[in-house]
Amino acid sequence: MEKREQLYEGKAKKVYTTDDPGLYIVSYKDDATAFDGKKKGTIADKGVVNNTMSNILFALIAERGVPTHFVRQLSDRETLVKAVTILPLEVIVRNVAAGHFSERYGVEEGTPLLRSALEFSYKRDDLGDPLINDDHVLALGLATEGEIAQVKEYAAKVNEVMKEFFLDKGLKLIDFKIEFGKLGDGTIILADEISPDTCRLWDVETNEKMDKDRFRRDLGKVEETYREVLSRVSGN
Ligand code: UDP
Repeated sequence: MEKREQLYEGKAKKVYTTDDPGLYIVSYKDDATAFDGKKKGTIADKGVVNNTMSNILFALIAERGVPTHFVRQLSDRETLVKAVTILPLEVIVRNVAAGHFSERYGVEEGTPLLRSALEFSYKRDDLGDPLINDDHVLALGLATEGEIAQVKEYAAKVNEVMKEFFLDKGLKLIDFKIEFGKLGDGTIILADEISPDTCRLWDVETNEKMDKDRFRRDLGKVEETYREVLSRVSGN
C-alpha cells in the first residue's frame, strides 16, 4: 500500500490517503509538544516506539472485543489504518490522581481513586481543549446519546484490558487519553494512538514515571524511558 496525498499533519503524526478510500496511512514523528504546544522538542525514535506500541495494544484491545482502526504495520513508523472521522472528544480515563485532575480537585498525585473516572475534553486547540460534560456534548451536537454510551462502554473495557496488560509488565496505568472515530456507516471504533505520550505509566516497584511526564517536567532519561516501555510492552 502506497501513500498518496498528505491529508493532515498533527503534532505527533502525519496522515496520508491511499489508493483505497477506506484506508489511510499514519506516519509517526519524533516531535514532542506539551502545555498546548508552548513546550516543543524531539524525542529520538519516539515515532518508532509509539507506532509499535500502539499497534500491539490495538491488536490486544480488538481481540477483547473493542473494534479499532488498526489494519497492519507497514514499517517502523508507518501503519495502515481504517479511514475514520475523529469524534472531537478526548476521552480520558483515570485510575489514580495525577496531572490536571490533581491540580483541579486538589488531590495529591498518586492518590488512588475510589473508582475509575472518565472525562471528556472538547478537541479544540484554539480553546485549549476544555473539559466538557455529556450535556454540553449533546447541546453542541458533537455526538449523540448512543455514541456517548458506546464510547463510555468501550473506554471502560480499554481501561480493564490495559490495566491488566501493563501490570503484567510491571507498570501501573495511572490515566490515559483515547480517541474514537466514525466509519462511513456510523460505526464507532477506537482510533489515534496509545503510547507513553497518551498514558501515564508508573513503575510498580519504584513509582518512577515511565511516560511523557519525563519530557513535560524535564525529568531526564526521556529516550531511555520510551525505549524501556516498548521493550517491556513487546516482551523483550
Ligand atoms: N493526555 C493526552 N493528550 C492531551 C491531554 C492529556 O494524551 O492533550 C493524556 C495525558 O498523557 C494523561 C491523561 O491524558 O495520560 C490525563 O491528562 P491530564 O488531563 O492530567 O493533562 P496533562 O497533565 O497530561 O496535560
